[in-house]
Amino acid sequence: MKAHDGMYIGGAWRPSSGRDRIEVVNPADEQVIGGVPAGTADDVDAAVRAARAALPGWASTAPAERAALIGALRDVLTARKTEFAETITAELGTTLGFAEAVHVGAPIGVAASYAELAASYAFEERLGNSTVLMEPVGVVGAITPWNYPLHQIVAKVAPALAAGCTLVLKPAEDTPLTAQLFAEAVHEADIPAGVFNLVTGTGPVAGQALAGHEGVDLVSFTGSTAVGRKIGATAGAAIKRVALELGGKSANVILPGADLAKAVSTGVADVMRNTGQSCNALTRMLVHRDQYEEAVSLAAAAVAKYATGDPTQPGTRVGPVVNAKQRDRVRAYIVKGVEEGARLVAGGPEAPHEHGYFVAPTVFADVTPEMTIAQEEIFGPVLSILRYEDEEDALRIANGTVYGLSGAVWAADEETAVAFARRMDTGQVDINGGRFNVLAPFGGYKQSGVGRELGPHGLAEYLQTKSLQF
Ligand code: NAD
Repeated sequence: MKAHDGMYIGGAWRPSSGRDRIEVVNPADEQVIGGVPAGTADDVDAAVRAARAALPGWASTAPAERAALIGALRDVLTARKTEFAETITAELGTTLGFAEAVHVGAPIGVAASYAELAASYAFEERLGNSTVLMEPVGVVGAITPWNYPLHQIVAKVAPALAAGCTLVLKPAEDTPLTAQLFAEAVHEADIPAGVFNLVTGTGPVAGQALAGHEGVDLVSFTGSTAVGRKIGATAGAAIKRVALELGGKSANVILPGADLAKAVSTGVADVMRNTGQSCNALTRMLVHRDQYEEAVSLAAAAVAKYATGDPTQPGTRVGPVVNAKQRDRVRAYIVKGVEEGARLVAGGPEAPHEHGYFVAPTVFADVTPEMTIAQEEIFGPVLSILRYEDEEDALRIANGTVYGLSGAVWAADEETAVAFARRMDTGQVDINGGRFNVLAPFGGYKQSGVGRELGPHGLAEYLQTKSLQF
């Protein structure tokens, strides 16, 4: 596949100062499809300098001008939708239809929302005898994961641009080609040189150099809780702003009286989307004991329809996971689930295909709250179904993990579901199948993170306030 042999810094592709490379592998067939340079600390330094040099000019552009350029970026993403989708499927293994509709569709929506917000946001307000100015934080170091490679980038870049910040992006090792395509889109949209810079590379080298760079004012990280903890410590030591979007173990609570068939099939679809590699996946389904066996049968029947295979083929609903390490990790969790006494009702640890990093869509019943598969993030196509006695028990189980990113509640009526959702310790809850909203704040309670992305709350992360008394 097309790859640039360099870093996008100061509006141009420049060679890396080092010689290490990252190979990109298609997880569906294990073939190498390209390679990019593995950036060094010097590359990161050059990119941060470029971002800092561009900051005064960009921060002082009129919001309407920034809005127009974000709109131009949205248009380029839209025009190159197919190319993005094909690249994402090749690097990540997600199905092509899902790549187009969600992996590219969602970021187009996010860019559109920030084109509007940049133009309409109140960057100044009068409070008593003060004028409060919302000013850009400065240079942003953005570090992103592979699971939604374009969306994770746009969810940081679009609000940062709207706020008047400049950026350096360090994307995930597994999906650098999508990040390079994004840099092309930035260039094509005529966003001024140095406002957005890209350094591909590994987490421990380029990522760490970026998080610790003294020229970076805010580190915005999405990824695992383990790495987030390190980045938070580095930023804390430097008294630097930090935003962390981390893992989840979200509960899908089906209350008595809900439409059970719809709740179960929607819940299974949610876990299987993107081969289970969604931080907000509803991986714990909580069902009342009176409906438990019926829900388990419905889930087993639903998951049987999720055919694994070549993600470019229309009949495939579940592609491979991103790499061999993730496949082994997910399979190890499935083995652990069996060992700890959960009942396997679909799937299992055996590979469904000879080649590619595939995991069989898996459903566990008789999962109890303290089991490993009910506590730890698996990041694969694995659903755990737990039994509860009454509403208080359901709430205790739903809130009983270190995470709090997402969740769902199904009930006979909205009022009952909303009342339950208010008591959940989590950043987002879908009520009776509520859908993704680009304007709703996204982010975690507890160890799922610090800060929010998307919409006006996401924009506020990239702003700092100054008050003038007169
Ligand atoms: P990861 O933490 O290993 O990597 C994420 C990014 O951090 C990558 O770009 C990586 O190169 C970089 N990195 C790794 N070590 C680093 C270091 N020491 N210093 C600086 N950067 C470093 O996570 P992953 O495996 O890419 O992604 C999976 C995880 O991300 C899951 O736990 C998932 O829940 C989480 N996630 C969270 C959200 C969210 O919005 N909350 C979204 C997507 C993924």
